[in-house]
Amino acid sequence: MNSRMNLNIVCIPGDGIGPEIVAEAKKVLDKVAVKFGHSISYKDILMGGASIDACGEPLTDEAIAAAKAADAVLMGSIGGNTSTSPWYQLPPHLRPEAGLLKLRKELNLFANLRPAYLYKELREACPLREDIIGGGFDMMIMRELTGGLYFGERSTRTMNGVVTAVDTLTYTENEIRRIAIKGFDIAMKRRKKVTSVDKANVLDSSRLWRKVVEEVALDYPEVTLEHMLVDNCAMQLVKDPKQFDVILTENMFGDILSDEASMVTGSIGMLSSASLNDTKFGLYEPSGGSAPDIAGKGIANPIATILSAAMMLRYSFDLDEEADAVESAVRKVLEDGFRTIDIMPQEESRRAGVSQVGTAMMGDLISNRI
Ligand code: NAD
Repeated sequence: MNSRMNLNIVCIPGDGIGPEIVAEAKKVLDKVAVKFGHSISYKDILMGGASIDACGEPLTDEAIAAAKAADAVLMGSIGGNTSTSPWYQLPPHLRPEAGLLKLRKELNLFANLRPAYLYKELREACPLREDIIGGGFDMMIMRELTGGLYFGERSTRTMNGVVTAVDTLTYTENEIRRIAIKGFDIAMKRRKKVTSVDKANVLDSSRLWRKVVEEVALDYPEVTLEHMLVDNCAMQLVKDPKQFDVILTENMFGDILSDEASMVTGSIGMLSSASLNDTKFGLYEPSGGSAPDIAGKGIANPIATILSAAMMLRYSFDLDEEADAVESAVRKVLEDGFRTIDIMPQEESRRAGVSQVGTAMMGDLISNRI
C-alpha cells in the first residue's frame, strides 16, 4: 500500500449540474481516503456563472491563486443555457467560459487526456457493429492543448479584390517534446503503446512532430511507437478501435479525434478528462457541460466526474491502486445493473435486473463498493 498522503484539492463545482456531480466525486474520494488511510483537504472556488453572479467576473485572482496553491483541481462544469441565460448578454471576456480559458492558461495546462473506454454493460450504446467491438476497447487520446492552428496568427483581408483568410499552424520542438514525454509517461502506466498521429506526408509541423516524438521514444524502450496519418486514424477509430492504447496528437487533430472516439463509447455522462501541465498538477473534469436542461433534478450521471477523480489519483498523486479501486467500483455498479437515466437501455431492450437511480444514489453505490 502507498504511504499516507495529504491531498490538497481545489474544487470548482461551477454551474448547472456541476455542484451535484462534484459532490458525488467528493463522496467517493472521501471513501478512498478512509479505506487507504489518506487525508484530503478541499477548498471550493467559484468559476463561470457562479463567479459572475457573486463577484462580477468569471474567475477572480483569488480563485486563480487558490488553484495554483493546490495539488490538483476537480471541476464540475460551467456555463448556462446559452440562449436564455443573462450571462451570455455580457461581452465575451466576461462570459462563463472565459473563466475556464483563463484558468487553463494560468495553470499552463498543455496536455489534454480523454479516455475512451467501452463498458461491456453499455455496449448497446456503442454505434459500432458487434464484430468490430469484439472484447471492447480502452484508449487514451492525448491532445496538445496550447499550440497549433488554434493559437497561431490569423487574419482575414482582401487581396486583389478577393477576401482571404489565413490561419497559421506553428509548433516548436519544445512544445512537441513536453507533450510527447507526457504521452510516453502515460503509456508506461497503461499497455505501453503510443500511436503518434500527424500529417507528415504534407505538413512541416507534422514532420517536426514525428522527428521529436521519435527522439523522445528513445528514452522509453519498453513502449512501442507507431506513426499514423490523421485521415487513416479517423478511419481506424471506427474500423478497429481496440488497436489503440495512447493516441498522441496535436491540437486540432486531437479535438476532432477525441470527439470521434468519445462518440463510439456511448454517453457523455461517462467520459472523464484531465488537463495537465509539466508537473504532476492537473485539472480534472467530465467531458460534458453543465447540462442546464437537467440541473437541480438529481438525475445527472456523476460517473464521468468520479472517473475524473480516479484520473486525479493516478496522474497527480501516483495512487494507482486507489484509482483502480474507483474504476472497478464503477464497473461493479454497472454489472449490478444500476444506471442513471442517460445510460438506461432503450425501452424495447430493457432487461430484468437493470434499475434506474439518481445522482446521489449512484455516488453512494460506487462509494459503497470501494
Ligand atoms: P452539455 O454537455 O451540457 O449537454 C448536452 C446533453 O448531454 C444534454 O442533454 C445534457 O442533459 C446531457 N448531459 C451532459 N452531461 C450529462 C450528465 N453528466 N448526465 C446526464 N446527461 C448529461 O452541452 P450543452 O447543452 O451544449 O452546454 C450546456 C452548457 O455547458 C453551455 O453553457 C456550454 O458552454 C457549457 N459547457 C461547459 C463545459 C465545461 O465546463 N468544460 C464543456 C462543454 C459545455
